[in-house]
Amino acid sequence: MHTTSQTPRQSHWNRVLLNAFWIILIVDLSIHMFVSLCLWDQHPDTLTMGEYIAQSLIPDSIIVTLIIILECIYRWKPVWSELAITVASHLFPLLIIFNLNDELYVISLIMLLPLLVSMIYMNSSYMIASSAVCLLYTIILFIKTYSQGYVPITQTIIVALIFAATALAGFAVIGRGRDLMRSLENSVKSEQELRIQNIIMDRLSKIDPLTDLYNHKTFHEYLGWLIDHQQSNPFPMQLAVMDIDNFKKVNDSYGHSVGDIVLQKVAAVLLEHIGPDDFAARFGGEEFVVILTSKTLDHSLKIMKQILTAISDIPFAEMNDNSVTVSIGMHNFAGSDSKNSTFQKADDALYEAKNTGKNKIVIS
Ligand code: GH3
Ligand code: MG
Ligand code: MG
Repeated sequence: MHTTSQTPRQSHWNRVLLNAFWIILIVDLSIHMFVSLCLWDQHPDTLTMGEYIAQSLIPDSIIVTLIIILECIYRWKPVWSELAITVASHLFPLLIIFNLNDELYVISLIMLLPLLVSMIYMNSSYMIASSAVCLLYTIILFIKTYSQGYVPITQTIIVALIFAATALAGFAVIGRGRDLMRSLENSVKSEQELRIQNIIMDRLSKIDPLTDLYNHKTFHEYLGWLIDHQQSNPFPMQLAVMDIDNFKKVNDSYGHSVGDIVLQKVAAVLLEHIGPDDFAARFGGEEFVVILTSKTLDHSLKIMKQILTAISDIPFAEMNDNSVTVSIGMHNFAGSDSKNSTFQKADDALYEAKNTGKNKIVIS
């Protein structure tokens, strides 16, 4: 079933309007009480108990009942609250007007209530309905005052003009509110786009596009950050520098694109074997780095050996089922190491692995 769409802080505004209805009711009851007491005091014969019940007690009881129904809807069926309050905002003034003295012209202005409620809900359909009700009421007023002379007609014209001005202002406020909502939506949208763009840019600046591993810059930042943390909270850490053996030959024999496939597969093997505490990056070209943390040297060595074996076990269809091998240099971080010395020691070990036959791991 269709219900009206909820606007921001809907429940708060429903509450505000319900409170306003209670205030209107109290004012209405006070006027009735005051008028009745004055009449009973000064002209006891003009108001019988029957008239008092018909003119005051019954309409006021209807209004109290309606407000209690609105309170129940507000509490148990909040989605219907806006529509119910809008309908009630038309009924209350009519009940009040038809039960107060016709000569109290100013009371006609209570018909502004539905216009104001529609304005608060920023709903143009409500505004059209309220304007139509006000127009109908104004026509009835004109018919009633037509034959009553110059003063009542003038008062009716003033009331009609106030209704028209309020209705026009209401439509303008709703239009302006919509403009503001639209510009708010647009600025939220562009802020979201900007955030997404920032995330993409951030990712692009950290990730190597070919292998999806972290890049050289991120490796340096992360290694520096880890070493800084080692000062306050030492933990085991190893750095492995890995280089594909004879990779130039792969490119020369099978082409650059096949070389790229090999790089991607090697990166995938790295990610498959390292744990959640570890970090892998493409250092550049066919060189990779792995930072292993919170593990003994033996454990990290075991992981790197598995990587070395796994890579050499991959037959590449693009290379006539030949495989590639890698050489790895590893350094177990010591408290005295700096970022540069850590990298240098692992790189020296790699150099040794290359010079002593490749396809092996050397620890320094
Ligand atoms: P070594 O065993 O001593 O490491 O020999 P190598 O041939 O692997 O080393 P070398 O430094 O001689 O060659 C590295 C090659 O890696 C040269 C370069 O064309 C290739 N290379 C670097 N980056 C890329 C890349 O992004 N894609 C491809 N396909 N090749 C790359
Ligand atoms: Mg190299
Ligand atoms: Mg190489």
